[in-house]
Amino acid sequence: MTYPPADDRLRHLLAQEINTSVDTWKLAMAIADGIVKDPAIRAELDRIARAHNHGQPCGDQNCPHCFDAALEAEQ
Ligand SMILES: [Zn+2]
Repeated sequence: MTYPPADDRLRHLLAQEINTSVDTWKLAMAIADGIVKDPAIRAELDRIARAHNHGQPCGDQNCPHCFDAALEAEQ
């Protein structure tokens, strides 16, 4: 079996990251569960992906994709 599971990949990826800062895997999964089910977070991820797919900056100051694109444009 591959990990993370294809049908629950986002939640497991989030939980892996959260797990480095909390005491239990169960707590990490509970937090990740809330994130993947939050419509505002889903909408923001969709908005960012849409901007990138159109070759436009998403406007998020933490975005590594746009940071790299800005560096390439300077060269
Ligand atoms: Zn971006």
